[in-house]
Amino acid sequence: MPDLATIGAALSSLKTATDIVKFLRESDLSLERAELKLKLADLLSSLADAKIELVEVQETLLEKDKRISELEDAFQKKDSLVRQRDAYYTADENGKPIGVPYCLRCWENDHKQRQLVHDSKEYRIRVCTSCGHQYEGRLAGNIEPPENSQPA
Ligand SMILES: [Zn+2]
Repeated sequence: MPDLATIGAALSSLKTATDIVKFLRESDLSLERAELKLKLADLLSSLADAKIELVEVQETLLEKDKRISELEDAFQKKDSLVRQRDAYYTADENGKPIGVPYCLRCWENDHKQRQLVHDSKEYRIRVCTSCGHQYEGRLAGNIEPPENSQPA
């Protein structure tokens, strides 16, 4: 996982490149052709390193943006999910849990809203598709709307 050290490496590669250019500028034109070629090869290599390191930094920034928007999303939904027994649910207009269950562990640990599904082998077990945590079905089942409720 690239981090601040990658930025440091990129800066260091750019400094090397700059130093080489300075050296070439300050040296009188008496440099041997072979030496000049060597310096230019070093220069290219430093610039290529810097480019790779900056691409890593760019990827890290994109990942962080994604995580920030997930957290913002979770923060907005913070009060809209309510716990009942072993799962979280969307709240209806009265603040009562309703609908499909969401993983307690994912919500409480990572603030991620992950739906629970039935286990393929054991129908009484509910499984989180994200973390794989298993729940007792009767403690984390669907909550149907009350019988007498009419659609608006
Ligand atoms: Zn989970």
